[in-house]
Amino acid sequence: MRLDSPDIIDISPPIHSGIAVFPGDTPFEQTFLRRVENGDGYTLSKITSTVHLGAHTDAPSHYATNGQSIEKRKLGRYLGASQVIEVKGARGRRITPADLKEKTITAPRVLFKTLSFPNPDHWNEDFAALSADLIRLLAKSGVHLVGIDTPSIDPAEDTKLESHHAVYENDMAILEGIVLDRVEEGLYQLIALPLPIRGADATPVRAVLLR
Ligand SMILES: [Zn+2]
Repeated sequence: MRLDSPDIIDISPPIHSGIAVFPGDTPFEQTFLRRVENGDGYTLSKITSTVHLGAHTDAPSHYATNGQSIEKRKLGRYLGASQVIEVKGARGRRITPADLKEKTITAPRVLFKTLSFPNPDHWNEDFAALSADLIRLLAKSGVHLVGIDTPSIDPAEDTKLESHHAVYENDMAILEGIVLDRVEEGLYQLIALPLPIRGADATPVRAVLLR
């Protein structure tokens, strides 16, 4: 594959101090300890951040008492055939099975394009989420990863996290915070590997789709 192949579609928002995180969560911050331009022999920086940053995957330990942390999850979940499905008009509500009436699920990973969180650097509360019924329907269709182009599969104000729990009951994986503006509906290969941070409840991923 060419280094600049147009078949590699980056679906990760750039990470920087201005990227939006859940209100109350720890924002991303980068501190430079050394800089070559200051005459130091090398540049060295450190970061502080929530692990739910940009394109990220939640671990079961984020929403269940005995849930696995991220380093224990099988990597095959985050690699392979994925279907991008566009759902229009879902801003401010959950996507339900009724929204998928006209669609056929053909891959074990489904990514929802809602365009309801249009700017990763600007928090908007009314992003689209998924219903627990939809999660169960997808699980029955053989889907083991659900992704969405918003910060969460549950609405921002929801504290019960019913869709996260439906994911847990069906041992699925979650990919949140991806950017799908320039991605058309269809089938792709997904690569979105979590970092093996021991005990972590999520990690950022570099999520890409291969055409
Ligand atoms: Zn989540």
